[in-house]
Amino acid sequence: MELRFYNTLSRRMEVLAPLEPGHVRMYTCGPTVYDFAHIGNFRAYIFEDILRRTIKVAGFRVTQVMNFTDVDDKTLRGAQAKGVPLDDYTRPFKQAFFKDMDALNIERAEHYPAATEHIPEMIALIRRLFEKGVAYRSEDGSVYFNIAKFENYGRLQRLNATEMRKGARVAGDEYEKESAADFALWKAWDAEDGDVAWDSPWGRGRPGWHIECSAMSMKYLGESFDLHTGGVDNIFPHHENEIAQSEAATGRPFVRYWLHCAHLGVEGRKMSKSLGNFYTLRDVLARGYTGREARYVLCSAHYRQALNFSFAALDAARASLARLDAFGARLRERVAGSAAEGSAPDWATAAKDRFWAALFEDLGMADAFAALFDLVHEGNRRLDRDALTADEAAGLLAHLNACDRVLGFLKAETDDTPDEAIQTMIQARQTAREAKQWAEADRLRDEIADRGWVVKDTPDGPKAQRMAGRAES
Ligand code: AMP
Ligand code: ZN
Repeated sequence: MELRFYNTLSRRMEVLAPLEPGHVRMYTCGPTVYDFAHIGNFRAYIFEDILRRTIKVAGFRVTQVMNFTDVDDKTLRGAQAKGVPLDDYTRPFKQAFFKDMDALNIERAEHYPAATEHIPEMIALIRRLFEKGVAYRSEDGSVYFNIAKFENYGRLQRLNATEMRKGARVAGDEYEKESAADFALWKAWDAEDGDVAWDSPWGRGRPGWHIECSAMSMKYLGESFDLHTGGVDNIFPHHENEIAQSEAATGRPFVRYWLHCAHLGVEGRKMSKSLGNFYTLRDVLARGYTGREARYVLCSAHYRQALNFSFAALDAARASLARLDAFGARLRERVAGSAAEGSAPDWATAAKDRFWAALFEDLGMADAFAALFDLVHEGNRRLDRDALTADEAAGLLAHLNACDRVLGFLKAETDDTPDEAIQTMIQARQTAREAKQWAEADRLRDEIADRGWVVKDTPDGPKAQRMAGRAES
């Protein structure tokens, strides 16, 4: 089946046809590590995770790059305010980011380049822009991109001629389309940067935010690649400027498909740091919700539709997940002890097909959810009437497993293989037992149980079993 997505560049639905057959190369703008990511940011990362997983299920290999913006106006301001070196300031936010990604069951990308580790690549790219005559140095030693020299400037955002203030300059990393003007590629050092500066042919300074993504994406994915994503706020100026820098330097098309997710809002306004109306994943977990419930909420709407965050939505997610878990448990019970091969019943075919058709058409998650719950409804009805064979139950479980390769919150596996975190705990418990630290061993057993697993001590060592009717969170 074909995969189709809405391409922001063409404003049309298009079939995904990667430049290299069978292999999709995608770049996702990652976090600016000046604070903990908020769940609005995670809406974007979960959308990208669903995208990545769907492309894989469709049979493609994926190479995904997600960068860390660890030097820009915001990170520098944060480090200055706290009076610590930039590295020390950003490191804990990078670590927290991975922890949150794991809690939300977001698959790892293939590469996580940090901007501060790619300064030579950025300098090389700016050099090429000088050679092409589209970069110039200003009086203060900063380097700017001359938008008047790049014919396609404004194509992504669809700027009109009057919106482009040719000859004017903006130094900041973020600005409105009303101030579309020459933007900074390299910013000359000033006192506010403290000791953060690199040598360049244009003097000491630091890169602008946009050149970071152009340099890192092309380094890992090539000068032309397939997919580039982010939230809608990235379209302008960030992605517009990435296109200008990359295409002006290489003379080749930068990216085929641009995908952008709508914002997560709170009471009708965008969730953002500057408005102060944000929740981090920590805030959500501290109120007793799980990463699994947050994932459910954040991926439940179509990615191009605004989604409003509320704790009521998390409560509803908990109820829906309980329903899915109970269904999985009933199916497993039906299969238990039989030698069922697993073939899904005919009545389920339509719901199965609808699920995949919805996903493959621009990640229609709301429709995919509806198809899933129709199947659960009918399956439960048949189980109530004792009208579902073990073989059919096994077939439905296999379907749920397939769905979960994309959804990542069902955890309806029939095989009992705990994830790495649980395995580490089981190992630690075993070590504690061997050292006769019984209290510690018991504490770990309880912690493992809290996550939905029972440890049985057998002559071959400890064995983990998923608790009946529970999925880990
Ligand atoms: P930042 O750390 O601000 O560079 O943002 C990281 C990613 O989160 C970008 O792709 C943004 O477009 C996205 N983003 C920021 N705020 C929201 C929001 N409220 N809803 C959805 N995505 C967002
Ligand atoms: Zn970026």
